[in-house]
Amino acid sequence: METIQSISDKFNFHLSRSGNCFSLHMPFNVANKDDQKKYKHFLERADKNKVLKKLPNLHEEAFKKIDCLSCASCCKNYSPRFKTPDVKRISKHLAMKESEFIDTYLIVDEDGDFVVRSTPCPFLGVDNFCSIYEVRPSDCVRFPYTDEDVLIKRQKLTLKNASFCPIVYHVLDKLSEVNLKA
Ligand code: SF4
Ligand code: SF4
Repeated sequence: METIQSISDKFNFHLSRSGNCFSLHMPFNVANKDDQKKYKHFLERADKNKVLKKLPNLHEEAFKKIDCLSCASCCKNYSPRFKTPDVKRISKHLAMKESEFIDTYLIVDEDGDFVVRSTPCPFLGVDNFCSIYEVRPSDCVRFPYTDEDVLIKRQKLTLKNASFCPIVYHVLDKLSEVNLKA
């Protein structure tokens, strides 16, 4: 069974493979090593308030351009954390006891978080739809954080996400095109 290897930076999907995005046969552009260097440089120097002002439009633009249903890279290769309210909500939705839900789908990772036993996520359908979409974990609701200050506050996390999520890549690419220096 493939090991769920969590990344050190919390508040994120957990890395389930050691390979990078280029082994995932992504249909969209994602950040390569050179891009990551460029975006790291940008994020370190950008004015936080100027970036935050740009995010809503760029977030919307990225979601119009990139169809998550044609991607599902996050659900195929990573696990969200299943926090206590998530477990309660989802197990109720599935008419399962919480303990049964946990035993069936989850393991505890090295950080003490519940994550899926293996990837792809067991709730991902072959059509890339999430079978528990209405009650999915809060990590899934918020991912990829392109409309939150997490994007600028958690730079390491943002750069990692840009390596597999074309939406994060798109937002960073557009942001770094304009002068948003502090
Ligand atoms: S959030 Fe990013 S990685 Fe996940 S499906 Fe959408 S584009 Fe792909
Ligand atoms: S719960 Fe749904 S949205 Fe979250 S990783 Fe699984 S399939 Fe994707």
